[in-house]
Amino acid sequence: AASPLGSSVIPIVNKLQDIFAQLGSQSTIELPQVAVVGSQSSGKSSVLEALVGRDFLPRGNDICTRRPLLLQLLQTKSSSDGGSDEEWGEFRHLKNKRFYDFSEIRREIEAETNKVVGENKGVSDQQICLKIFSPNVLDITLVDLPGITKVPVGDQPTDIEARHRTIGVITKLDIMDRGTDARNHLLGKTIPLRLGYVGVVNRSQEDILLNRSIKDALIAEEKFFLSRPAYSGLTDRLGIPQLAKKLNQILVQHIKALLPNLKSRISNALFATAKEYESYGDITESRAGQGALLLNFLTKYCEAYSSTLEGKSKEMSTS
Ligand code: GDP
Ligand code: MG
Repeated sequence: AASPLGSSVIPIVNKLQDIFAQLGSQSTIELPQVAVVGSQSSGKSSVLEALVGRDFLPRGNDICTRRPLLLQLLQTKSSSDGGSDEEWGEFRHLKNKRFYDFSEIRREIEAETNKVVGENKGVSDQQICLKIFSPNVLDITLVDLPGITKVPVGDQPTDIEARHRTIGVITKLDIMDRGTDARNHLLGKTIPLRLGYVGVVNRSQEDILLNRSIKDALIAEEKFFLSRPAYSGLTDRLGIPQLAKKLNQILVQHIKALLPNLKSRISNALFATAKEYESYGDITESRAGQGALLLNFLTKYCEAYSSTLEGKSKEMSTS
Protein backbone atom coordinates (compact mmCIF):
# COMPACT_ATOMS: atom_id res chain seq x y z
CA ALA A 1 0.00 0.00 0.00
CA ALA A 2 1.13 3.54 -0.64
CA SER A 3 2.48 5.48 2.28
CA PRO A 4 -0.03 7.93 3.73
CA LEU A 5 2.21 10.76 2.66
CA GLY A 6 1.92 11.47 -0.99
CA SER A 7 -0.68 8.89 -1.92
CA SER A 8 -3.04 11.46 -3.39
CA VAL A 9 -0.30 13.48 -5.04
CA ILE A 10 1.62 10.63 -6.65
CA PRO A 11 -0.65 10.39 -9.74
CA ILE A 12 -0.47 14.14 -10.40
CA VAL A 13 3.27 14.25 -10.03
CA ASN A 14 3.64 11.20 -12.26
CA LYS A 15 1.62 12.86 -15.01
CA LEU A 16 3.71 16.00 -14.80
CA GLN A 17 6.95 14.00 -14.87
CA ASP A 18 5.65 12.29 -18.02
CA ILE A 19 5.08 15.67 -19.62
CA PHE A 20 8.59 16.73 -18.69
CA ALA A 21 9.95 13.52 -20.17
CA GLN A 22 8.06 14.15 -23.42
CA LEU A 23 9.63 17.57 -23.59
CA GLY A 24 12.97 15.84 -23.42
CA SER A 25 13.56 17.72 -20.22
CA GLN A 26 15.87 16.38 -17.56
CA SER A 27 14.38 18.53 -14.89
CA THR A 28 11.95 17.15 -12.39
CA ILE A 29 9.46 18.77 -10.15
CA GLU A 30 11.07 20.01 -7.01
CA LEU A 31 8.95 19.32 -4.01
CA PRO A 32 9.44 21.05 -0.69
CA GLN A 33 11.34 19.47 2.16
CA VAL A 34 9.64 18.49 5.37
CA ALA A 35 11.78 18.97 8.47
CA VAL A 36 10.64 17.91 11.90
CA VAL A 37 11.60 20.03 14.86
CA GLY A 38 10.82 19.41 18.51
CA SER A 39 12.30 18.48 21.81
CA GLN A 40 13.99 15.17 22.60
CA SER A 41 11.75 12.12 22.54
CA SER A 42 8.75 14.23 21.63
CA GLY A 43 7.94 11.71 18.91
CA LYS A 44 9.43 13.28 15.77
CA SER A 45 10.92 10.10 14.36
CA SER A 46 7.69 8.29 15.13
CA VAL A 47 5.71 10.85 13.13
CA LEU A 48 8.02 10.52 10.12
CA GLU A 49 7.87 6.75 10.23
CA ALA A 50 4.11 6.76 10.43
CA LEU A 51 3.96 9.11 7.44
CA VAL A 52 6.28 6.93 5.39
CA GLY A 53 4.50 3.81 6.58
CA ARG A 54 7.66 1.84 7.32
CA ASP A 55 9.69 1.08 10.46
CA PHE A 56 13.26 2.09 9.98
CA LEU A 57 14.17 4.96 12.27
CA PRO A 58 15.78 4.52 15.66
CA ARG A 59 13.27 5.55 18.27
CA GLY A 60 13.32 5.44 22.00
CA ASN A 61 13.18 7.22 25.28
CA ASP A 62 16.83 8.16 25.16
CA ILE A 63 18.06 10.54 22.56
CA CYS A 64 17.82 8.38 19.52
CA THR A 65 18.26 10.74 16.66
CA ARG A 66 21.75 11.98 17.37
CA ARG A 67 22.77 12.95 13.88
CA PRO A 68 20.47 14.69 11.42
CA LEU A 69 19.04 12.22 8.96
CA LEU A 70 18.40 13.45 5.46
CA LEU A 71 15.82 11.07 4.15
CA GLN A 72 15.20 11.19 0.44
CA LEU A 73 12.21 9.24 -0.78
CA LEU A 74 12.54 8.31 -4.43
CA GLN A 75 9.77 6.82 -6.45
CA THR A 76 10.49 3.78 -8.60
CA LYS A 77 8.23 2.21 -11.21
CA SER A 78 5.79 -0.32 -9.79
CA SER A 79 5.33 -3.79 -11.30
CA SER A 80 2.13 -2.62 -12.98
CA ASP A 81 4.24 0.02 -14.67
CA GLY A 82 7.00 -2.24 -15.92
CA GLY A 83 9.16 -1.95 -12.79
CA SER A 84 9.20 -3.98 -9.61
CA ASP A 85 7.50 -3.57 -6.25
CA GLU A 86 10.74 -3.87 -4.33
CA GLU A 87 11.57 -1.25 -1.73
CA TRP A 88 15.09 -0.64 -0.56
CA GLY A 89 17.36 1.87 1.12
CA GLU A 90 20.81 3.16 0.21
CA PHE A 91 23.17 5.21 2.36
CA ARG A 92 25.51 7.82 0.96
CA HIS A 93 28.32 6.46 3.14
CA LEU A 94 27.79 2.93 1.80
CA LYS A 95 27.63 3.26 -1.94
CA ASN A 96 26.31 0.31 -3.93
CA LYS A 97 24.78 -1.51 -0.99
CA ARG A 98 21.05 -1.99 -1.12
CA PHE A 99 19.21 -2.61 2.14
CA TYR A 100 16.01 -4.55 1.55
CA ASP A 101 15.50 -5.24 5.26
CA PHE A 102 14.27 -2.08 6.94
CA SER A 103 15.36 -3.16 10.42
CA GLU A 104 18.86 -3.47 8.99
CA ILE A 105 18.53 0.15 7.88
CA ARG A 106 17.80 1.12 11.47
CA ARG A 107 20.83 -0.82 12.72
CA GLU A 108 23.03 0.90 10.14
CA ILE A 109 21.78 4.34 11.23
CA GLU A 110 22.58 3.42 14.84
CA ALA A 111 26.02 2.05 13.95
CA GLU A 112 26.86 5.06 11.81
CA THR A 113 25.69 7.41 14.58
CA ASN A 114 27.87 5.67 17.15
CA LYS A 115 30.85 5.78 14.82
CA VAL A 116 30.77 9.57 14.84
CA VAL A 117 29.36 10.55 18.19
CA GLY A 118 30.27 7.53 20.29
CA GLU A 119 28.06 5.32 22.37
CA ASN A 120 27.38 8.09 24.86
CA LYS A 121 24.75 10.72 24.40
CA GLY A 122 26.72 12.96 22.05
CA VAL A 123 24.99 14.77 19.24
CA SER A 124 26.60 15.68 15.94
CA ASP A 125 25.54 17.95 13.12
CA GLN A 126 27.05 15.62 10.51
CA GLN A 127 24.24 14.38 8.34
CA ILE A 128 23.48 10.79 7.53
CA CYS A 129 21.99 10.59 4.05
CA LEU A 130 19.57 7.82 3.31
CA LYS A 131 17.62 7.24 0.13
CA ILE A 132 14.54 5.07 0.18
CA PHE A 133 13.50 3.69 -3.21
CA SER A 134 9.93 2.53 -3.49
CA PRO A 135 7.00 2.65 -5.91
CA ASN A 136 4.83 3.78 -3.00
CA VAL A 137 6.45 7.06 -2.17
CA LEU A 138 6.67 10.50 -3.61
CA ASP A 139 9.96 12.16 -4.43
CA ILE A 140 10.20 14.13 -1.26
CA THR A 141 12.89 14.88 1.29
CA LEU A 142 12.30 14.50 4.99
CA VAL A 143 14.77 15.69 7.57
CA ASP A 144 14.86 14.07 10.99
CA LEU A 145 16.72 16.29 13.40
CA PRO A 146 18.13 15.53 16.82
CA GLY A 147 15.80 17.00 19.42
CA ILE A 148 16.43 20.36 20.87
CA THR A 149 16.59 20.00 24.62
CA LYS A 150 13.76 22.35 25.31
CA VAL A 151 11.41 24.23 23.06
CA PRO A 152 11.22 27.81 24.22
CA VAL A 153 7.53 28.52 24.35
CA GLY A 154 7.06 31.83 26.06
CA ASP A 155 4.11 34.15 25.79
CA GLN A 156 5.18 35.14 22.30
CA PRO A 157 6.52 32.72 19.75
CA THR A 158 10.02 33.93 18.87
CA ASP A 159 10.33 32.70 15.31
CA ILE A 160 7.56 34.52 13.46
CA GLU A 161 9.10 33.77 10.05
CA ALA A 162 9.14 30.03 10.56
CA ARG A 163 5.53 30.02 11.72
CA HIS A 164 4.40 30.81 8.18
CA ARG A 165 5.27 27.27 7.07
CA THR A 166 4.94 25.33 10.28
CA ILE A 167 2.32 22.72 10.91
CA GLY A 168 1.91 22.08 14.60
CA VAL A 169 1.91 18.39 15.44
CA ILE A 170 0.87 17.55 18.96
CA THR A 171 2.16 14.09 19.80
CA LYS A 172 1.46 11.57 22.55
CA LEU A 173 -2.10 12.68 23.18
CA ASP A 174 -2.64 9.26 24.76
CA ILE A 175 -0.38 10.00 27.70
CA MET A 176 -1.63 13.38 28.82
CA ASP A 177 -2.47 13.72 32.46
CA ARG A 178 -5.93 12.40 33.23
CA GLY A 179 -8.45 15.20 33.15
CA THR A 180 -6.48 17.25 30.64
CA ASP A 181 -6.73 17.37 26.89
CA ALA A 182 -5.23 19.28 23.99
CA ARG A 183 -8.46 20.65 22.54
CA ASN A 184 -7.53 24.31 22.91
CA HIS A 185 -4.06 23.71 21.51
CA LEU A 186 -5.53 21.91 18.51
CA LEU A 187 -7.88 24.83 17.95
CA GLY A 188 -4.88 27.19 17.87
CA LYS A 189 -6.01 29.06 20.95
CA THR A 190 -2.62 28.77 22.64
CA ILE A 191 -0.21 29.55 19.82
CA PRO A 192 -1.95 30.35 16.56
CA LEU A 193 -0.30 28.85 13.48
CA ARG A 194 -1.35 29.71 9.97
CA LEU A 195 -1.27 26.06 8.89
CA GLY A 196 -2.92 24.85 12.07
CA TYR A 197 -2.42 21.78 14.22
CA VAL A 198 -2.83 18.04 14.05
CA GLY A 199 -2.90 15.80 17.10
CA VAL A 200 -1.47 12.30 16.78
CA VAL A 201 -0.96 9.11 18.72
CA ASN A 202 1.94 6.92 17.66
CA ARG A 203 3.41 3.77 19.14
CA SER A 204 4.60 3.80 22.71
CA GLN A 205 7.90 2.22 23.70
CA GLU A 206 5.93 -0.82 24.81
CA ASP A 207 4.27 -1.09 21.40
CA ILE A 208 7.71 -1.01 19.79
CA LEU A 209 9.00 -3.73 22.12
CA LEU A 210 5.95 -5.81 21.23
CA ASN A 211 6.65 -5.26 17.52
CA ARG A 212 3.31 -3.65 16.94
CA SER A 213 2.91 -2.70 13.28
CA ILE A 214 2.29 0.80 11.99
CA LYS A 215 -0.98 -0.43 10.51
CA ASP A 216 -2.24 -1.62 13.91
CA ALA A 217 -1.06 1.61 15.46
CA LEU A 218 -3.17 3.61 13.00
CA ILE A 219 -6.25 1.61 13.95
CA ALA A 220 -5.53 2.15 17.64
CA GLU A 221 -5.06 5.85 17.02
CA GLU A 222 -8.45 6.17 15.37
CA LYS A 223 -10.09 4.22 18.21
CA PHE A 224 -8.43 6.48 20.76
CA PHE A 225 -9.80 9.68 19.26
CA LEU A 226 -13.28 8.21 18.85
CA SER A 227 -13.30 7.25 22.53
CA ARG A 228 -12.48 10.77 23.82
CA PRO A 229 -15.39 13.22 24.02
CA ALA A 230 -12.90 16.09 24.36
CA TYR A 231 -11.86 15.52 20.75
CA SER A 232 -15.30 15.25 19.21
CA GLY A 233 -15.88 17.52 16.25
CA LEU A 234 -12.16 17.89 15.59
CA THR A 235 -11.73 14.99 13.17
CA ASP A 236 -10.01 17.16 10.56
CA ARG A 237 -7.24 17.85 13.08
CA LEU A 238 -6.71 14.38 14.44
CA GLY A 239 -4.54 11.48 13.39
CA ILE A 240 -1.62 10.62 11.12
CA PRO A 241 -3.90 10.27 8.03
CA GLN A 242 -5.08 13.86 8.57
CA LEU A 243 -1.50 15.05 8.92
CA ALA A 244 -0.66 13.27 5.67
CA LYS A 245 -3.70 14.90 4.05
CA LYS A 246 -2.58 18.33 5.20
CA LEU A 247 0.92 17.81 3.87
CA ASN A 248 -0.54 16.54 0.61
CA GLN A 249 -2.66 19.67 0.30
CA ILE A 250 0.43 21.79 0.76
CA LEU A 251 2.21 19.72 -1.89
CA VAL A 252 -0.68 20.16 -4.32
CA GLN A 253 -0.63 23.91 -3.75
CA HIS A 254 3.08 23.90 -4.39
CA ILE A 255 2.57 21.97 -7.63
CA LYS A 256 -0.21 24.36 -8.67
CA ALA A 257 2.16 27.27 -8.20
CA LEU A 258 4.64 25.53 -10.51
CA LEU A 259 2.09 25.08 -13.30
CA PRO A 260 2.32 28.52 -14.99
CA ASN A 261 6.05 28.04 -15.40
CA LEU A 262 5.57 24.53 -16.74
CA LYS A 263 2.92 25.84 -19.14
CA SER A 264 5.19 28.51 -20.56
CA ARG A 265 7.97 25.99 -20.97
CA ILE A 266 5.64 23.72 -22.89
CA SER A 267 4.39 26.51 -25.14
CA ASN A 268 7.96 27.64 -25.78
CA ALA A 269 8.90 24.12 -26.74
CA LEU A 270 5.79 23.89 -28.95
CA PHE A 271 6.63 27.16 -30.66
CA ALA A 272 10.19 26.07 -31.35
CA THR A 273 8.99 22.75 -32.71
CA ALA A 274 6.39 24.42 -34.91
CA LYS A 275 9.04 26.70 -36.35
CA GLU A 276 11.36 23.83 -37.08
CA TYR A 277 8.42 21.96 -38.58
CA GLU A 278 7.66 24.92 -40.84
CA SER A 279 11.19 24.98 -42.12
CA TYR A 280 10.72 21.43 -43.40
CA GLY A 281 7.69 22.43 -45.42
CA ASP A 282 4.30 20.85 -45.24
CA ILE A 283 4.41 17.41 -43.75
CA THR A 284 1.92 14.96 -42.48
CA GLU A 285 2.16 11.83 -40.42
CA SER A 286 1.35 9.69 -43.45
CA ARG A 287 3.95 7.75 -45.42
CA ALA A 288 3.40 10.14 -48.29
CA GLY A 289 4.09 13.00 -45.92
CA GLN A 290 7.23 11.33 -44.69
CA GLY A 291 8.26 10.75 -48.27
CA ALA A 292 7.70 14.40 -48.99
CA LEU A 293 9.77 15.33 -45.97
CA LEU A 294 12.59 13.10 -47.12
CA LEU A 295 12.37 14.62 -50.58
CA ASN A 296 12.53 18.02 -49.00
CA PHE A 297 15.65 17.10 -47.09
CA LEU A 298 17.25 15.64 -50.20
CA THR A 299 16.42 18.73 -52.24
CA LYS A 300 17.89 20.98 -49.57
CA TYR A 301 20.95 18.75 -49.36
CA CYS A 302 21.41 18.76 -53.12
CA GLU A 303 20.96 22.49 -53.28
CA ALA A 304 23.48 23.02 -50.54
CA TYR A 305 25.87 20.57 -52.13
CA SER A 306 25.63 22.05 -55.57
CA SER A 307 25.99 25.57 -54.27
CA THR A 308 29.24 24.62 -52.53
CA LEU A 309 30.39 22.97 -55.74
CA GLU A 310 29.43 26.06 -57.64
CA GLY A 311 31.28 28.17 -55.15
CA LYS A 312 34.32 25.97 -55.56
CA SER A 313 34.20 26.09 -59.35
CA LYS A 314 33.76 29.86 -59.25
CA GLU A 315 36.77 30.07 -56.94
CA MET A 316 38.71 27.92 -59.36
CA SER A 317 37.71 29.92 -62.38
CA THR A 318 38.59 33.21 -60.74
CA SER A 319 41.96 32.09 -59.44
P1 GDP B 1 12.09 11.80 18.88
O1 GDP B 1 13.25 11.82 19.82
O2 GDP B 1 11.39 13.11 18.87
O3 GDP B 1 12.46 11.36 17.51
O4 GDP B 1 11.03 10.76 19.48
P2 GDP B 1 10.78 9.24 19.11
O5 GDP B 1 9.93 9.14 17.90
O6 GDP B 1 12.06 8.52 19.11
O7 GDP B 1 9.87 8.79 20.34
C1 GDP B 1 10.34 8.82 21.66
C2 GDP B 1 9.58 7.81 22.50
O8 GDP B 1 8.22 8.20 22.61
C3 GDP B 1 9.56 6.41 21.91
O9 GDP B 1 9.69 5.48 22.95
C4 GDP B 1 8.19 6.27 21.29
O10 GDP B 1 7.72 4.97 21.32
C5 GDP B 1 7.37 7.15 22.20
N1 GDP B 1 6.22 7.76 21.50
C6 GDP B 1 6.26 8.47 20.35
N2 GDP B 1 5.03 8.90 20.03
C7 GDP B 1 4.19 8.46 21.00
C8 GDP B 1 2.79 8.57 21.24
O11 GDP B 1 2.04 9.21 20.46
N3 GDP B 1 2.30 7.95 22.35
C9 GDP B 1 3.08 7.27 23.22
N4 GDP B 1 2.52 6.71 24.27
N5 GDP B 1 4.40 7.14 23.04
C10 GDP B 1 4.96 7.71 21.94
MG1 MG C 1 14.22 10.99 16.68
